[in-house]
This record gives sequence, structure tokens and C-alpha cells, in this order.
Amino acid sequence: MKNFIIFGPPGAGKGSQAVILAKRYNLKHISTGDILREEIKNGTKLGLKVKSLMDEGALVGDDIILEIIESVILNSKGYSGFLYDGFPRTIYQFQVLDEFLQKIGYKTDAVISLVVKEEILIKRMLRRAEIEGRADDADIEVVKKRIATYREQTEPLVEIFEKRGRYYPLEGDTTIEQSFNEICTIIDSLG
Ligand code: AMP
Repeated sequence: MKNFIIFGPPGAGKGSQAVILAKRYNLKHISTGDILREEIKNGTKLGLKVKSLMDEGALVGDDIILEIIESVILNSKGYSGFLYDGFPRTIYQFQVLDEFLQKIGYKTDAVISLVVKEEILIKRMLRRAEIEGRADDADIEVVKKRIATYREQTEPLVEIFEKRGRYYPLEGDTTIEQSFNEICTIIDSLG
């Protein structure tokens, strides 16, 4: 089982790439943001718990996220691997994922990072708000807070990824197709 992380700030295009990559390589696409939005939509206890944090652009607690991840990994059958989108978002999340994967005989095979300038991220999220109706995309202050949260809590992971290797930063300000082709070249080269 392969394990790929698609990494980058909110609005970098991780979700769009993850959907087509998952299809191409028969990977289970695990988007923690999508899972949490579904919980909110269904009015579950978990949904109620995370809604205000998501609305304000803050991160949901590591324990909640890690429980979701472990459960999805253990309950997914028939895939060639996993593609993590929007996860890990803290150093702790990555450490726990790493230990968990080791325990079950896997590793992180590649981290593909989409690098996009801040003003483009903001434009993309505001545009996405009109298409998908995500509340956390529609409010410029929340968008800025999410980018700040990324810089503070998620971006420090880059140093860890760089040290470990198998880290592939890509220019994300291109077309969906161009990024997709570049990512496929990386994945195919890993064998
Ligand atoms: P996303 O769709 O990945 O942009 O996530 C939307 C929101 O869900 C984030 O702003 C966080 O509030 C929450 N969230 C998603 N994934 C995580 C994660 N791995 N850790 C903490 N919070 C998360």
C-alpha cells in the first residue's frame, strides 16, 4: 500500500489534484476537511463540536483528526494506497501518522507540495466560495486566518519533510492538467 501526502496551503489546489490522482492510481482519497464538512451537514455530535473552529479558520484538535484517519485507513478495502489531502496539518499529526504507518508495515512514499502565492490563494478561495458555497471561503477575514494558521502550524512540517526526503515541491500556479502531469511523473518515477 502506497501512502502519498498532497500538501500545501488552503486554496493551493490539493483537492482538485487528489480527486484525479486517486482515480488514476486507485488510491483512497482521504480529505479530512471533506469528512468534517459531511459531519456538519449530517448534524452529528462530531459535526457540532468542530463547526465553530472550522467557521473561524482554526484547526480542529489533533485527537479528533487522528481518530478519523486511523479509522479510514483500517476500514478501506480494495485500494492500492492512500492519498492524504489536508492532512497532516501539524507536526504531531505527522508523527502519529508516521508511527501508525510503520506499525502496520507502510511508510510515507512521497509528499507532493503545491506552492502558490498568497494573493492567488485568496482569489481562488473567494472564487471557490461562489461555486461550492463553503462559508470558510466566502469571508476574506476567515480566508486570511486560514492562511495564517497554515503558516504557523502546518508550514513548519516542510523542514521535517525536507530532512526525510521524498519531498517534492511543485509550482501550483499552473493549470490543473499541468500539475496533474507533473505529479504523475513523480509518482511513476517512484515505481
Ligand atoms: P480543508 O477543507 O482541508 O481546507 O479544511 C477545512 C477546515 O477543516 C480547516 O480550516 C480546519 O478547521 C479543519 N481541518 C481539516 N483538516 C484538518 C486537519 N488535518 N487538522 C485540523 N483541522 C483540520
